[in-house]
Amino acid sequence: MRFRRAGVLVLFCLSAATFAVAQVRQEIRFPDVAGYRTLKCDLHMHTVFSDGLVWPTVRVDEAWRQGLDAISITDHIEYKPHRDDVSVDQNRPFELAAARARERNIILIRGAEITRETPPGHFNAIFLRDVAPLEVKDFFEVFRQAAAQQAFVFWNHPGWKGPEAGRWTDDHARIHAEGQLHGVEICNGNTWYEDGHRYALEKNLVLIGTSDEHGPFGDRPWTAEEHRTLTLVLAAERSEQGIREALFAGRTLVWCQNRLFGRPDHLAAMFEAAVEVRAPHARHKGETIAELINRCALDLELERVAGPGPSRIRVPAGGTVLVRFRESPDGDAARPVYRVTNMLSAPGKPLEAALQVPAPELPQAQPG
Ligand code: ZN
Repeated sequence: MRFRRAGVLVLFCLSAATFAVAQVRQEIRFPDVAGYRTLKCDLHMHTVFSDGLVWPTVRVDEAWRQGLDAISITDHIEYKPHRDDVSVDQNRPFELAAARARERNIILIRGAEITRETPPGHFNAIFLRDVAPLEVKDFFEVFRQAAAQQAFVFWNHPGWKGPEAGRWTDDHARIHAEGQLHGVEICNGNTWYEDGHRYALEKNLVLIGTSDEHGPFGDRPWTAEEHRTLTLVLAAERSEQGIREALFAGRTLVWCQNRLFGRPDHLAAMFEAAVEVRAPHARHKGETIAELINRCALDLELERVAGPGPSRIRVPAGGTVLVRFRESPDGDAARPVYRVTNMLSAPGKPLEAALQVPAPELPQAQPG
């Protein structure tokens, strides 16, 4: 009897241990900014319901383990290579994943990929209530159907078939003029589409970055360089409605291969929230020494533009480095200006930001 009880206890401990190991979530470090929640979102991926290789619930499990807040499963509407084996019901992937998403606290957004010849190419429509009405032949009718459901629509991987096929065409201009195109995927997987980024800025379209994953994600932990490409949505609240409001308002940043793309004010707000210089704690040969802390998932790369400080600083994601600043003769706070070479508001346009170095709280230098 006692043996059996001990056995049950051991079994319980073993299963508890297995549970704990299997359920670890790797958080993604990007601080909340400017009064908004920074939600980590991937709005483009596939399952066996189009040309992907995983079941919809797997996408939810991956999202949870990888530290995401929200996903949209966007199977191709017009391309279903597994149609002999899997249902062609356009709403099935969402329905199958919904309960799992609630359990995992992942916001699941109903979406689909409009898949046409390139150009004009592929587009995602998200926040749909029903995907079925988008299964129509006429190109412009699809966008009318999406608009009737107040969907957010973005142009996918603009240059995936080269710059000529990825150009802005009359078809894009027409759906844009109708208010039926809202964003552009400037990053898809590990590719940054510079022309797409320029179109987004010219046409005032929202910047989006996605994985467009088709296979299962491996379980290798992410690094600053190798990670899932995401849209960071600056939302007033962590909910589908919060994400929707933020997307239509254009409050996004795109994280791709150790670079962050966004509007200058959003980048500046993220830099300010992520970077802190502490008051200098030591003084040596006319320089003060201070800690520079990086609270985001980028390995930050800084180049000095003006003021005291080293010509280059690299601060690893989540790390702290020691930095020396030339002392001002009157002991004032310093405001050196740095170019953040991996935070870009446009192709070739890095963010410039002032580092707030507090005045040192140190006794005056001792002679010798
Ligand atoms: Zn896709």
